[in-house]
Amino acid sequence: MPVGDLLLTSHRKGRVEMREDPLVLRGTAVQALPRRNRTWGEGRSCEKEGCATRLSMYNREKFCWAHAPVKYYSPRGRRNHPEAA
Ligand SMILES: [Zn+2]
Repeated sequence: MPVGDLLLTSHRKGRVEMREDPLVLRGTAVQALPRRNRTWGEGRSCEKEGCATRLSMYNREKFCWAHAPVKYYSPRGRRNHPEAA
């Protein structure tokens, strides 16, 4: 009974399977790799004097939402507001 042959065969199979797994995992990982969140420093606070509001490290603005420079207030999708004139 050629036991050595059987062992060799099963050993080879095992190697092949082990070889394929990392490849599949690697391909999946690259595709599913999430974008790194850009952060702007932790523990920053609003630059407005006297404002101690902490800014999220994902917020790249220098001011908190209350002191952020507001450009225009535009009602969503509505122009020609009757009372605006
Ligand atoms: Zn502020």
